[in-house]
Amino acid sequence: MDSSIASASAGWLPWALLGAALVLAGGLGLALARQWRRGRGLGRRLRDANSALDELRQRDSLTGLPMRADFERALAEAVARADADGATVAVLHLGLDNFRPVNDGYGHRVGDAVLREVGARLSAAAGDPLAVCRVGGDEFALLLPGADADTARRRAQQLVAELARPYACEGLELQLGASVGFALYPDHGGRPRLVPHAALAMRSVKLAGGDGIACYDSSMATDLRGQAELMQDLRRAIELRQLQLVYQPKVDAASLQVTAVEALLRWQHPTRGMVSPAVFIPLAERHGLIAGIGRWVFSEACRQAGEWRARGLRMRVAVNLSGQQLRHEDFVPWLEAELRRHAIPPGRFTVEITESVAMEDTESTRAAFERLRNAGLHVSIDDFGTGHSSLASLRRLPAAELKIDRAFVTDLPTSAQALAIARAIAQMATTLGLRVVAEGVETEGQRDALLGLGCHELQGYLFAKPMSASSLEMWADGESSGPAGTFRPSLFDPTRPLPLS
Ligand code: C2E
Ligand code: CA
Ligand code: CA
Repeated sequence: MDSSIASASAGWLPWALLGAALVLAGGLGLALARQWRRGRGLGRRLRDANSALDELRQRDSLTGLPMRADFERALAEAVARADADGATVAVLHLGLDNFRPVNDGYGHRVGDAVLREVGARLSAAAGDPLAVCRVGGDEFALLLPGADADTARRRAQQLVAELARPYACEGLELQLGASVGFALYPDHGGRPRLVPHAALAMRSVKLAGGDGIACYDSSMATDLRGQAELMQDLRRAIELRQLQLVYQPKVDAASLQVTAVEALLRWQHPTRGMVSPAVFIPLAERHGLIAGIGRWVFSEACRQAGEWRARGLRMRVAVNLSGQQLRHEDFVPWLEAELRRHAIPPGRFTVEITESVAMEDTESTRAAFERLRNAGLHVSIDDFGTGHSSLASLRRLPAAELKIDRAFVTDLPTSAQALAIARAIAQMATTLGLRVVAEGVETEGQRDALLGLGCHELQGYLFAKPMSASSLEMWADGESSGPAGTFRPSLFDPTRPLPLS
């Protein structure tokens, strides 16, 4: 061993580890390693290493943005200036919507590339290099000295638009939304509370479905606590038998006979009363509870379908699937096993998948569709018209049915645009040999317009509201008349499963 190195051995090991860490840290480390090999003096190398480490400490290794400490220093300076001249300061907290599916579906390399690009866009938009930092995985903070609420909101809108531009990486074109919360100094607290309060405002946007902007207000902390408690209750709702399914018929447009029922989830909470699935399903998805709930829904719908089948009720049963369920590799095999257990032919079962989930072009979603097709299930594309499907992408899906989103049905008699969209969907479906279902039909005017467009099936309060299994049976048995009086008790008529394309 070289004697100069041997004499410095006491300080050598930590320095070697430091060197190794720097090598791992990227190009800077490589440059250092090269210098090191050239055998320069120990003191010089130590100095280089320290300044390199300093440099690294000042930058987020992934995005190259300043570190949180520098951001906080810039914030403290802006607050001090505001104190001196009576101005305001705004802190924005930005979170990407749907970043996790990108990371999970395409891998970390693509995820990291997206985050780097987000960092670059925010940095360019902020102007000042110290005014933006990454505060967590896919979350960023941005400082706007001198901004009041109006300015903060306007800038937030610009940033959301900037982040919504497509991300091109590894041959993919990805699109992401963003949720932004902001807090103002001095109105919403002292310097240490500004980032946490802006983050709280951002969480409230996310809880409401994302893709929006919110200004902090003091009630948000209690709202979030309420949501956390709700999730805790939801974790035990299955065990406590608080979940149940109700069923809403789909009727044949020409004969008004029932062809299918859609299972819809209900949560009877002991103190809050009935909690809408529109509220708790998105929350369950965000908190990783949807897998267990989704399995319960499917099992229960299979059990019920088996029971109806034994009684001679021959309509299809539909369940709604969430995107996260599709991404679970073992989901479709499990689903097939469950159908077998209840002796239900897969063609008699429909899975409703929203258009936006169906159009996610990830490996796992594609694989799940392939498995659904092979299993022979009837796939319905829900909320159709709200996403960005093309004829080409639709052709690749094993869909048997398109459901025109309720928004277009509602506006049908009054909006020429809604009518044009509904007509285009019906034509597209006909071209592809798919059935067209219209949901949310409430009036005879809507029904007539949909009949004119050639819709095959209709669903909505005009015919029947969602009802319990026993109410449905009473109705089928002719023991009660249909809620709208327009329904013929035809549940015993056989319906044929549609062949899959
Ligand atoms: P969706 O799948 O689009 O279901 C249709 C919703 O519209 C249902 O609300 C239904 O009760 C309501 N609806 C039906 N006809 C009419 C009508 O004529 N007028 C009006 N105004 N509304 C009508 P619901 O049951 O509250 O469900 C809301 C959403 O929650 C569903 O939308 C679906 O996305 C989700 N969901 C419900 N059950 C499940 C489930 O078991 N799993 C998953 N993943 N999502 C579910
Ligand atoms: Ca549905
Ligand atoms: Ca729908």
